[in-house]
Amino acid sequence: MIPSAFSYVQASSVQEAIRLLKESNGEGKVIAGGHSLIPLLKFRLTTPGTLVDIGQVAELRGVRKEGNRLVIGALTTYRQIVSDPLVAEHLPVLAQAVRQIGDIQVRNRGTIGGNLAHADPAADLPGVALALDAMLEIQGEDGAEAVEAESFFLGPLITALAETSLLTAVSFLLPPPGTKSTYLKYAHPASGYAVAGVCALAAADAHGRISYVRVGINGVGDMAYRARSVEEKLLGQIPTADLIAEAALLAAEDAEMGSDMFASAEYRRHLSEVYTQKALQQVLL
Ligand SMILES: Cc1cc2nc3c(=O)[nH]c(=O)nc-3n(C[C@H](O)[C@H](O)[C@H](O)COP(=O)(O)OP(=O)(O)OC[C@H]3O[C@@H](n4cnc5c(N)ncnc54)[C@H](O)[C@@H]3O)c2cc1C
Repeated sequence: MIPSAFSYVQASSVQEAIRLLKESNGEGKVIAGGHSLIPLLKFRLTTPGTLVDIGQVAELRGVRKEGNRLVIGALTTYRQIVSDPLVAEHLPVLAQAVRQIGDIQVRNRGTIGGNLAHADPAADLPGVALALDAMLEIQGEDGAEAVEAESFFLGPLITALAETSLLTAVSFLLPPPGTKSTYLKYAHPASGYAVAGVCALAAADAHGRISYVRVGINGVGDMAYRARSVEEKLLGQIPTADLIAEAALLAAEDAEMGSDMFASAEYRRHLSEVYTQKALQQVLL
């Protein structure tokens, strides 16, 4: 289908983008890589009056280390993330997840900010953001704020972003030294999106007890979630195959499983348990 008519404006700075959104009187929409928005426009599932293109806003791109966090500009593309040395050194699990997104064209254009702002339940990065204690940096009419990932994702395609706000960056907490991490997904065979995706990180203390564990899951529910029941079961324990199997059975406890033409809620529950078990085996055994 052909999108409904809209006007198109380019912003050259964050402040200008916010002003242009404000001037759109609730009819404005940010466009970054366009790989989620353009399909929606073509299906007329969204009909904005104005597209505010932030593609030229240089201050939104790049990766930098700030203390114990890695800060990635919202407009940083997947391709830039997988080839960035700081990401490779400090957050290999992010690069591992990003490599599994779409195809080379999608990774050339798609942005980390677009992925998180879009909040598609089947996207790969929301679960990774939750597992890495991400803070979403938002700039709006009234100034800047940082929102924890768990308060940012509110539902399918729904986030804490206001209509006139911009996601400017996402900062990830660097896991403690010695942490092992992985992101595994059961990809939909046609679209490649996650039917289930599990990001797991874990570290052990000098006595071999689990001292740090994070599990973020996307794909199976209406929105990504942290599998806190799994984490609580593991924390302080000596990892064994039996313990991991028991903990993985709790993977669906912290969310309502979704059901659609691709997969029933029962099947999604099963996938969340199986992929959590596989991921935990990789990081704990
Ligand atoms: C063929 C194909 C396969 C794909 N496969 C996968 C996959 O396997 N896994 C996966 O996770 N994703 C997948 N995607 C989606 C892709 O990752 C998108 O790039 C991503 O979801 C959105 O990023 P974008 O930069 O393209 O955002 P856009 O499409 O430009 O924007 C998406 C939404 O986010 C908003 N937005 C964007 N940036 C900002 C910002 N800085 N501040 C506020 N709002 C903003 C827009 O207004 C819009 O509502 C696929 C897409 C395609 C076309």
